Amino acid sequence: MFKVNLHLLEGCNFHCRTCFAHFDSKRLLSVEEWKHIIDNLYKSGQVNAVNFAGGEPFLYPHLGELVEYAHSLNLKVSIITNGSLVTKAWLDKYAHCVDMIGFSIDSFNRNISITMGRCSHNKQTFGIDEFLNIYPYLLEHNIKIKINTVVNKFNYKEQFSHNLVGLKIDRWKVLKVKEFNNGKFNNHDLLITMEQFNEFVKANPYKNRIVEDSLVNSYFVIDANGNLLDNSPEAYGTVGSLLTEKFNDVFSRFNFDRALYESRYTKTELHAA
Ligand code: SF4
Repeated sequence: MFKVNLHLLEGCNFHCRTCFAHFDSKRLLSVEEWKHIIDNLYKSGQVNAVNFAGGEPFLYPHLGELVEYAHSLNLKVSIITNGSLVTKAWLDKYAHCVDMIGFSIDSFNRNISITMGRCSHNKQTFGIDEFLNIYPYLLEHNIKIKINTVVNKFNYKEQFSHNLVGLKIDRWKVLKVKEFNNGKFNNHDLLITMEQFNEFVKANPYKNRIVEDSLVNSYFVIDANGNLLDNSPEAYGTVGSLLTEKFNDVFSRFNFDRALYESRYTKTELHAA
């Protein structure tokens, strides 16, 4: 069974230079259109989990309704967010539908975050203080906590993991920045060598850490237009629309790396020191 990432929108209150949420979406899909897509996934018999992503999913006005809907179909629900818009009030209302929240945190250093664009227009960042403000409510509601960190030219020398010591973080996923170029946007100035990536990995041990260096076609991206994307650098584009076609028909045309997908969802630790 698969977990599928639903990128509800490409808009975000942060403007990270590592961001690959550039889907060329013309409009927001309605809540009914997203429910149709969730139904489509559920009825395929191949999907048991959805991950709401963006852009920043907490900017989608009906995130709570979608979370409730997916949960009502017994799909496992997770959310990946920059953290800045997660509130106690939202958690009190919808946490019972959510299995895990992943926080996308590339740096706990405010200056580095700002250099990477991981901040709002008024330079609001999401650092350790902001994370610790919301952390007790995540524990109170029994939500699993994941942190994703993309290692790049600006943060590969950072001492990061000591901030997590003593916290109940279920998974800290560390990724090497992936080359991105869709013709309009590229991130070539952020790329690092394998040696630089390993320098970060060595300096930042953590018990629940997972290290990955490739995500190409080993996960399902439904973009803000409702299309399944091929996310390999040489063929970045649409495989098909889940608004107009059945998931299984679109999936049959997807150049999917099943072995890599399965290894991602079974491994717990690769490089912990
Ligand atoms: S917080 Fe996430 S979605 Fe927003 S700009 Fe950064 S990487 Fe993109």
